[in-house]
Amino acid sequence: MKITLLNVLSEREECINKDTMGGYGSATKIGNGFFAKLIESKKKSGVKLPIFVLGYIAAIFSNKGHIVEYKINEIPRDSDLVIMPSSIVDYKIELEYAKKIKEETNANVGFIGPFASVKPEIYLKYADFIIKNEPEQAIMNIAEGKIPKGIIESQPIKDLDILHYPKWDIFPIEDYGYSPMVNKKPFIPILSSRGCIFGCNYCPYKAYYGKWRQRSPENIIKEIKYLKEKFNIKGLLFRDPLFTYDKNRAKKIAELIIKENLDIEWACETHFDFLDKELIDILYSSGFRSLNVGIESSDQEVLKKATRKSASIEKQNEIIDYCHKKGIRVAAFYILGLPEDTEKSILQTINYAKKLNTIVAQFFISTPFPGTNFYEQVKETIYDNDFSHYNSYTPVFLHKNLTKEQLLNLKEKAFVSYYFRPKYVLRFIKDKIK
Ligand code: SF4
Repeated sequence: MKITLLNVLSEREECINKDTMGGYGSATKIGNGFFAKLIESKKKSGVKLPIFVLGYIAAIFSNKGHIVEYKINEIPRDSDLVIMPSSIVDYKIELEYAKKIKEETNANVGFIGPFASVKPEIYLKYADFIIKNEPEQAIMNIAEGKIPKGIIESQPIKDLDILHYPKWDIFPIEDYGYSPMVNKKPFIPILSSRGCIFGCNYCPYKAYYGKWRQRSPENIIKEIKYLKEKFNIKGLLFRDPLFTYDKNRAKKIAELIIKENLDIEWACETHFDFLDKELIDILYSSGFRSLNVGIESSDQEVLKKATRKSASIEKQNEIIDYCHKKGIRVAAFYILGLPEDTEKSILQTINYAKKLNTIVAQFFISTPFPGTNFYEQVKETIYDNDFSHYNSYTPVFLHKNLTKEQLLNLKEKAFVSYYFRPKYVLRFIKDKIK
């Protein structure tokens, strides 16, 4: 079979990334002011991530002898099968393309991803099949030549070591980047685990990926070696949200990177609870230079109501201070407008972010993604049912303490007042000089 993996993106001025928000996607919309636009354009030029699962799917098909290609915004004319990743932010244009492909070609069309999993009925009219859940197991069956019909359920892969490494050679890896967190290129992300042990009720990632599963250190190191040999990779990002959940595993990965002399600068995401100074030291020796952490809010009550298990403020300060001392960049993620937020708690969160003064501070608007418990909780108060607005930067439900305008203003204020401060400008310049 000839298979096209088709990524469809609308032409908007916002930075659209379909692999964020657990695969629902996001479209960075900071505000209308001059400084807000400046931050937006910086983000657009710095961050470009591939859609992970497409790399895994390409590998499965290719290993079964199929011809696989990757296309962006192009109707494939000679494919037997077109697989499209769904997203909440761009679902309308995805449907337009699917409709055209069905009308103008003989290809079968299938959708994958979290949004199509929770809202398959939206896609069904223009698709031959929708794969619910992580798609690899269903794709293995399709690779045997069995094209399914309708909505099918795929089972999550329990042993992640059995998967072939993503086949990045059909993707434009020279385009991918993660600045300012990882400035070395070629850059590629890697998944060392899937799922999460926590259950934050708003989390789209948890809704799709479920229970935590890990790859073995040896399997991960083999992939990094392969990436070095094949693409001369210099920068890496472990995209899984709990890279250090198993501290011994993280330590072993670092030790193997050193032993194999892989000479790579890498970043990871994790939770403060699974970091300590000793572990940071070992990771640093192997090239760890950037850390992504979710802080969400500085108000413990706001977090508790969102079932977010947060580390203490003391622990957060200790880890971030230590990272900064070692020269490890930190990106902190915040959510504005969680159900218990008030204007006061949001302003406190913004001030807390400034105190931490991390190289990246990301302020999202609380968004009830379909498929999450949060969505079920607030669905009666949702006033915007156009899912393409669920971009993590736009209020869509009636907040008990804040109007839509207040939230939008607070978001723009958060970004602009954060990045255009003398203290931040100074730390940015210092980072650049280093
Ligand atoms: S810690 Fe919470 S927000 Fe982060 S991945 Fe896990 S469930 Fe989601």
